Amino acid sequence: MNSKLHVGILGATGVVGQRFIQLLEVHPQFEVTALAASDRSQGKDYSEACVWRLPGEMPDRVKGIVVQSPAPPLDCDFVFSSLPGEVAGEAEESFARAGYPVISNSSSHRMDADVPLLIPEVNPEHLELINAQRAARGYDRGYIVTNPNCSTIVIAMALAPLHGNFGVASCVATTMQAISGAGYPGVASLDITDNVLPFIGGEEEKIESETVKILGRVSEGKIGDADVQVSAQCNRVNVIDGHMAAMRVKLSQTASLDQVREALFSFSALPQKLKLHSAPARPIIVRDEVDRPQPRLDREAGNGMSVTVGRIATDSVLDYRFVALGHNTIRGAAGAAILNAELLLSMEKLT
Ligand code: NAP
Repeated sequence: MNSKLHVGILGATGVVGQRFIQLLEVHPQFEVTALAASDRSQGKDYSEACVWRLPGEMPDRVKGIVVQSPAPPLDCDFVFSSLPGEVAGEAEESFARAGYPVISNSSSHRMDADVPLLIPEVNPEHLELINAQRAARGYDRGYIVTNPNCSTIVIAMALAPLHGNFGVASCVATTMQAISGAGYPGVASLDITDNVLPFIGGEEEKIESETVKILGRVSEGKIGDADVQVSAQCNRVNVIDGHMAAMRVKLSQTASLDQVREALFSFSALPQKLKLHSAPARPIIVRDEVDRPQPRLDREAGNGMSVTVGRIATDSVLDYRFVALGHNTIRGAAGAAILNAELLLSMEKLT
């Protein structure tokens, strides 16, 4: 390809929006040309509207872009959305209606029956919903594709090779989620310092419903949920980045501990085959040390795009247990959406 596709970011000043800008700074196929945020930021240069909170400098090329309202038209070929759920729904629909592909992080449309909830390694065939979506909603060039919640993606990626090889009958997941998952400024320091908060609004429901959609099969333009019982409990912990899930699974078919480890270790899928720019060489990294994964040591694995699984063992209540970890603002948000866009581009659905 000779020229890069032009990208707009909705919610560009936030935790996820800044990650998009950081990850897209050196992207070979996409370049940021439009930024949008709330009326607090609109009309200002990005450098004035945004307090840059990632390591390193704000990229020079976005500093002078004037922040606009998250409404079409924007000077771009497609948009990434990291708007808060309350405003994303309508804004994303208006872009899709106006002909823009919308690659969203937000929860608003994830559970819509005609919207793919995509993990390129797990369910690329769900993209066939785009045709049904366009027909049902009267969209022409536009459509909405979403990525999962930041904990769901870690859990679903760890379950995918087990479900594919042996079937997963049930899964119990207990999360330990980073503070950055709550956006900026997020949780008050007096609440989270020296503490664990055993409640994250809506999160348990999202994990339980999204996981079965992701692992479901698509047929005649519809997704049938996977027949997997999922139970989640979510905790906010005093970690900046990296969501961890302690998981227990019951399999549908008998499998040995070695077979379970091998299924996770050898997992590789379409993004690896297509060598997509953001695809990690290994979507799942298995660690055998007794004390891994750990957020500080493992969240950057595969440039933040790998899920690290460790502590794989037999379980005395369900069949097996393990701990999975992923970077919530990279694999769980901006990196996930960028990988979705790379897959869509490879399928000629962005041009
Ligand atoms: P955040 O740090 O609070 O950023 C929110 C962004 O949305 C900012 O750019 C903000 O602009 C803009 N915004 C807020 N209200 C708006 C409005 N009424 N109209 C237009 N723009 C508005 O949140 P975040 O953590 O980046 O999360 C963004 C979305 O991604 C949420 O839907 C969240 O659930 C999802 N998500 C987050 C994570 C994570 O790990 N943080 C992971 C996966 C998904 P101003 O700066 O102008 O206020």
